[in-house]
Amino acid sequence: MSILIPDNPARDDVLAGRPTLWLNPDYREGAMVNSVLPLRPERVTEAEKYWAKLAPLLCQCFPELEQTGGRIISPLIRVPDLQKALSFSRPEFGQLFVKNDGALPVAGSIKARGGVYEVFMHAINLAEQAGIYEDDITTLISSRARELFSEHTVAVGSTGNLGMSVGIAARALGFRAVVHMSADAKSWKVDRLTRQGVEVIQHQADYTTAVEHARIAAEASPSVYFVDDERSELLFLGYSAAARELAEQLALAGRIVDLEHPLFVYLPCGIGGAPGGVAFGLKAIFGDAVHAFFVEPVQSPCAMVHMMSGSEHLVSVYDVGLTNKTEADGMAVARMSAFVASVMRPMLSGIFTVEDDDLFRWLWKAQMTEQIRLEPSAAAGFGGPDFLINTPQGRAYAEQRGIGNSLEKATHVVWTTGGAFVPQEQFWTFMKRGQSLSG
Ligand SMILES: *Cc1c(COP(=O)(O)O)cnc(C)c1O
Repeated sequence: MSILIPDNPARDDVLAGRPTLWLNPDYREGAMVNSVLPLRPERVTEAEKYWAKLAPLLCQCFPELEQTGGRIISPLIRVPDLQKALSFSRPEFGQLFVKNDGALPVAGSIKARGGVYEVFMHAINLAEQAGIYEDDITTLISSRARELFSEHTVAVGSTGNLGMSVGIAARALGFRAVVHMSADAKSWKVDRLTRQGVEVIQHQADYTTAVEHARIAAEASPSVYFVDDERSELLFLGYSAAARELAEQLALAGRIVDLEHPLFVYLPCGIGGAPGGVAFGLKAIFGDAVHAFFVEPVQSPCAMVHMMSGSEHLVSVYDVGLTNKTEADGMAVARMSAFVASVMRPMLSGIFTVEDDDLFRWLWKAQMTEQIRLEPSAAAGFGGPDFLINTPQGRAYAEQRGIGNSLEKATHVVWTTGGAFVPQEQFWTFMKRGQSLSG
C-alpha cells in the first residue's frame, strides 16, 4: 500500500492516521495566469453575474432572502475571544476570522452555494429549451414553468448536506427530487428532506458508491438531471462566487490583503468541490497573496493521499489502509474529484488533517465564546493556524513563500461550513462531547 505515496515529511503520519500538514510541492506562483487550467479564471466573474441574475427569483422562492435582496450570503466574523480560547494570541498568529457558511440561508451549509446554483441554472436551461424563458427570470416560477419542471427529476448522491441543498432548491421550483444518501448521512437530514417532499434512497454504502448508484439511475432516464459532485463545473462555479463576497467583507473589516499582508484560508474538504471552488475564486481575486489550505479528517484524507501520490489515477483512502470512518459526515469521502484535483494542483498551498475529538472541542469553544453553532465537519479549519505557526512544516511554508516576517500582518479565515440546521438535541450532544473532551 505504501508504494502509492512517495517519500514526503507528512507520509508516515497520514498513513498512520495522525494529524499532519502536507505542503504541495506542485504549487506554482502565478498559477492563475501561468498554468494551463481546465477552467478559465473569468468563469468566476461569469458565475457572479449569474448569481446576480438569479437573485430576484431566489427572493421569490425563499422569503428568508428578502433581507439580502436574493443573495445567499454568510457573515464574516471577527472572533477575538475564540482566538484567545484556541491559544492563538501571540502576535505571529495575526487576526482570526470565521466565515460562517453554517449560517447560510436555504440549506444551512456551504452546499447552498453550489447546489442551489446548479439546480437553478438547470432550470434556466430547461425553460429556455421549452421557449418559456427569455429575459424575465421570474417566469421560472410561473405555472407553465412549474408544470414543465414537474415532469423532470433532479437527482444527487450525498452524505447529507448536498442532498439538502439540491433537494430544497429542486422542490422550490417544482421538480421531482431524488437524493441517494450514503450510510454516514445523519437521520435528521433524511427526515428534513422527506418532509420537503424529497425522495430519499438510503444506501448501506459509502459516498462514492451512493454517487455511482445515483449516476447509473439517472443515465437510464432522459428526464433525470444528475448533479454530479465528482465532475460538475456548475457546482464548482457556484461555490467560487463566495470569493468576491469574502473580499468585500475583508475590505469592510479594514483588512489589507497583498503579498506583505497574507490571507490564509482553511477549507474543510470532502470530495473537494466546495473548498476547491472557493479557493479557485480566491486565487482569481488575490493571486499569490492568498494561501489556501484544505482540511480533512485523519481517516478520510482523500485529497491528501491523492495529491500526495502525484498519480494520474485517483488514489482512495482505502487504497492506503485508512477506514474513512469519521463523525464529520460532510467530509466522509474516500475518493476526491479528479476534476478538482487537476484544478487545484498548481494553486493549493497544502492540506492538513485533524482528529474527530478536536472537532468537538472546537465546536464547543466556538459556541461558548462566540455563539457560533457548528456541526463537527464545520469546525475542522480551526486546526489551521496552529499547523502554520507552531510546526516546523508550517514555518518552512512561510519561509518558502517569503512571508516569514509578515505573519503578524496576516489574516486567517477559518471557513466554517455547516451547522444552522442541526436540531437542538443533536447539537447538545455535540456540545457535551466537546466539553468533556476539553475537561
Ligand atoms: C460538503 C461539505 C464539506 C466539503 O465539501 P466538498 O465539496 O465535499 O469537498 C465540508 N463541510 C460541510 C459541512 C459539508 O457539508
